[in-house]
Amino acid sequence: MIVTRFAPSPNGPLHLGHAWAAMVAHDLARARGGRFLLRIEDIDGTRSRAELVPEILADLEWLGLTWDGPVVFQSARLASYQAAGERLKALGLLYPCRCTRAEVLAAAREAGPDGPLYPGTCRAREVDPDGAAWRIDMAKAVELAGPLEWTDELVGVQRAAPEAFGDVVLLRKEAPASYHLAATLDDAADGVTLVTRGVDLFAASHVHRLLQALLGLPVPVWHHHALLVEADGRKLAKRRGSPALADLRRAGGDGRTLVQALREGRLPTGLSFGAGVEAGV
Ligand code: GLU
Repeated sequence: MIVTRFAPSPNGPLHLGHAWAAMVAHDLARARGGRFLLRIEDIDGTRSRAELVPEILADLEWLGLTWDGPVVFQSARLASYQAAGERLKALGLLYPCRCTRAEVLAAAREAGPDGPLYPGTCRAREVDPDGAAWRIDMAKAVELAGPLEWTDELVGVQRAAPEAFGDVVLLRKEAPASYHLAATLDDAADGVTLVTRGVDLFAASHVHRLLQALLGLPVPVWHHHALLVEADGRKLAKRRGSPALADLRRAGGDGRTLVQALREGRLPTGLSFGAGVEAGV
């Protein structure tokens, strides 16, 4: 049976782009007789706002997008992220890093436009692991995992190319796990078989596929949908005038009518669909 999910981060109020993303996941599950899950990605201690969670639930109900089963909270799963981190450490694939954001940017600038995003400054250093972030040694991990493929149902089979990300952080100083690690583990734990999300996260799936191989997790199919964008092509954001769903809801708007319009491709004035993705093996 197909299982999809909507996985918002309660870092800000949901807007029309979220309504679109939730609808895609919901409708694909319903059309195929599957389940639609809701997961709250609330582990970013610096940005996550607990008071937004009831608003998110109310928004989805207002939109008529009902989810199956209990709401899953990432904050309740910290032990599983830690355990996976320990497994990767035991494989010798993680190393501690204490570089600040400024140091990472400076090192990347030095490596040049074709250099890795993080040139591995701490890989060969003695670093006190206490309170450090942990990065994956990408070259080593890719070698251990061997060649991998994954499938996006819209654009077909992809050869996994996580190298482009460089040594990404998997365990963080200020949050227990990075998005990559937490989302990958949760999709497996929840039995998600079709990962739907915006095409802006297409490249992240290369990293997730690698983590699945390293941790022995089942491999879902992906569906990266186009994003709703502003007239100038930029992503929707409340600060650029895209209304929060909660504001529309409180103003007495009809959420179900809104979703039906999105479903039929009738977009609110000024919005359009951004470019899709061109990819292949
Ligand atoms: N929490 C992520 C976001 O809001 C979810 C991405 C995903 O669906 O994997 O962008």
